[in-house]
Amino acid sequence: MSDQKGDDVIQCSFCGRTAHEVTSMVAGPDVYICDRCITDASGIVSNDVSDRPVTEFRKTPVRSSPQKRLTPREIKSALDEYVIGQDHAKKALSVAVYNHYKRIDAQEYPDVFSDVELEKSNILLIGPTGTGKTLLAKTLARVLDVPFSISDATALTEAGYVGEDVESILAHLLHASDFNVELAERGIIYIDEMDKVARKSDNASITRDVSGEGVQQALLKILEGTIAGVPPKGGRKHPEQSLINIDTSNILFICGGAFDGLNDIIAQRISTSSMGFTAEPGNQVDKHHPSIFQYVEPDDLLKFGLIPELIGRLPVLASLMELSVDAMRNILLEPKNALLKQYQKLFAMDGMDLVFDPEAIDAVVEKARKLGTGARGLRAVLEDTMLEIMFNVHSTPDFSVCRITEDTIRRTGDPVYERRRASA
Ligand code: ADP
Repeated sequence: MSDQKGDDVIQCSFCGRTAHEVTSMVAGPDVYICDRCITDASGIVSNDVSDRPVTEFRKTPVRSSPQKRLTPREIKSALDEYVIGQDHAKKALSVAVYNHYKRIDAQEYPDVFSDVELEKSNILLIGPTGTGKTLLAKTLARVLDVPFSISDATALTEAGYVGEDVESILAHLLHASDFNVELAERGIIYIDEMDKVARKSDNASITRDVSGEGVQQALLKILEGTIAGVPPKGGRKHPEQSLINIDTSNILFICGGAFDGLNDIIAQRISTSSMGFTAEPGNQVDKHHPSIFQYVEPDDLLKFGLIPELIGRLPVLASLMELSVDAMRNILLEPKNALLKQYQKLFAMDGMDLVFDPEAIDAVVEKARKLGTGARGLRAVLEDTMLEIMFNVHSTPDFSVCRITEDTIRRTGDPVYERRRASA
């Protein structure tokens, strides 16, 4: 019997097999038992989540040849259909994802590809709230047709504190892939609010959770690639719970955050260095410049409070810009699932054409910008206006067109109901 447990390798206390050699381990206080021993010892695993036996989490066979991959250009143009602007971030993401999947191919088919080891290209998205960070990550997963999950870094705590273990973010992905381990192992995880787990020292202007640094430490391993024992339900690991082993080396992690205050650090650095984007060296850089985050460097993140090891595991830095008035207007109108198109569809299903005056659209954008939550404000403003109208839509059976005017948006007038003009 072996109950020894190395720093990295979990071993079954009964047969000595490592986590790599078995499908799953059940953890007890300082002991582990693998699925094979469980079967031999007559089904101790009875409280498995989602009422599935652990054997159902076995991996499906690996494909026999490399898949055709989308090129960075193809990935970007697919992102363009849903996300307005943010070209810099889109390009960075497209290339990083392309390289990520090349790296997977290189590992799986070492005889086809050279044996130069390619590093993992996890991504850090930096940009103000509501500018499309989550949307980009979500759209990317849709384009690539891989499982995707979103977790919030602020919900995580280092082991021993109240909150979720970092492994719970893998549990979310496992759910998203309907418990298919192999699919999950190629998925994308978006970790939001990464800026909120920065450590306190080095930047007094930002208030954060004291356990932030512990969370950063805990994330290191899964970001880099490890076999993690995941409690399928998420939450805390506890003794006698069955764990599913997930290899995180091919999971792409995209971390995001608004990083309030990082713009000060960047502007400060550029202003004091002779190189930068100011016309004249020594001039004060505008910290509110829309593209200030484009100039971020790893040292700025260190100053902000991310630990160097974490910065090292997020080699691709992509920045998002504050949305301009035009971008906000386009967000209302252009994406495949643009907000106005969604409302128009809802009205059409009731036999009503929904029309927005151009001035009404400008008013929505203006009101939304005042909320300071980026494009998220657009939905808030529209929901506010449309609620009453949708409530009353059935009381206007004589009309077939509902026209939203600037006054409707500003709450100084009702929508105009008209009859549909007969087409020529
Ligand atoms: P965050 O940057 O805070 O993660 P999100 O990606 O969650 O912001 O954006 C919130 C919502 O705003 C999205 O669901 C989407 O509807 C809209 N949105 C934000 N940015 C864009 C964009 N660049 N293009 C299209 N829609 C956007």
